[in-house]
Amino acid sequence: SKIFNFCAGPAMLPEAVMQQAQSEFCNWQGSGVSVMEVSHRSPEYIALAKQAEMDLRELLSVPDNYKVLFCQGGGRGQFAAVPLNLLGDKLDADYILTGQWSKSAVVEAKKHARIKETDIMTTTADGKIAVKPCDEWSMNSEAAYLHYCPNETIEGIEIFDVPATGDVPLVADMSSTILSRPLDISKFGLIYAGAQKNIGPSGLAIVIVREDLVGKARQAIPSIFDYEIQANADSMYNTPPTYSWYLAGLVFKWLLAQGGIVEVEKKNIAKAELLYNAIDASSFYSNNVDKSVRSRMNIPFTLADDSLNETFLSESKAAGLLTLKGHKLVGGMRASIYNAMPIEGVQALVDFMAEFEKRYA
Ligand code: PLP
Repeated sequence: SKIFNFCAGPAMLPEAVMQQAQSEFCNWQGSGVSVMEVSHRSPEYIALAKQAEMDLRELLSVPDNYKVLFCQGGGRGQFAAVPLNLLGDKLDADYILTGQWSKSAVVEAKKHARIKETDIMTTTADGKIAVKPCDEWSMNSEAAYLHYCPNETIEGIEIFDVPATGDVPLVADMSSTILSRPLDISKFGLIYAGAQKNIGPSGLAIVIVREDLVGKARQAIPSIFDYEIQANADSMYNTPPTYSWYLAGLVFKWLLAQGGIVEVEKKNIAKAELLYNAIDASSFYSNNVDKSVRSRMNIPFTLADDSLNETFLSESKAAGLLTLKGHKLVGGMRASIYNAMPIEGVQALVDFMAEFEKRYA
């Protein structure tokens, strides 16, 4: 029977993408070699790279005054690159705390900037995790930028509203939400995302940055992290991760073929509803995030009886439902259902959960 992989990253890639990649693995465009073995300076590869950027621009309606960069170093690379590029002659940056990934971003940024941390997490009357609405976030008008993480992969928290930060550029770690729903890029100074969830293989990071924020990097910044250097070199200052870029390009084409992000969002809403409804309808499973900020991509849940965790994991694995173990910091289970997860996979999980409950509750 079919295997469904619920890993939070590296996450599953669309089946059609994997099939295409496999079919041309050793013979890309009839060249007799793999795309992995082709020079990034060749006209064929440059055409591929440009097409991937154009497709991403189309998917996200990226305005013309934004650069799109294909960077190395994943999400954490950007935890460092953002302050090194954006502080300019300022010392201060604002960081909003919503969970583990926004906290990790602060640890890195503190090496370079004076950080004001604002914890916006709250608890509802019924004990669920919630966050304060954006208009209640405390902001420093002198900050070089305000950073937040709209989707906390570990806790399963997603912030759908975009904060208004006035003249302070808004920076978002979109690793776990990019391409899952439409986005008004013009509200952001910069967004970045590690690729291994909704884009392609790990190691690659996409950066979309407003042009006026490029060119202010600290002198000591490693050149490969300097947005200006990378923008001037079409993200090929050094040899880029060519195979990851190629796969990202296939994923972008696949998303366009799905009807673009508006259609993809509809599927993501349906998938998330299916799983949350199953959890909410049961007293055996629970999710501790308030409905207003529940992630559509990462759905943590616990079993009423913790001692059944290992049994749940081994039986779900045997049923072809992989990587459901929750992050070690929160425990329990987590189903990551990024764009590539078909609704059949979520249905298979929901069916398994119901059947498991019947046997063990
Ligand atoms: N930000 C978020 C929201 C993440 O989920 C992750 C990783 O899963 C990262 C950053 C770190 O990405 P990387 O492992 O590519 O450095």
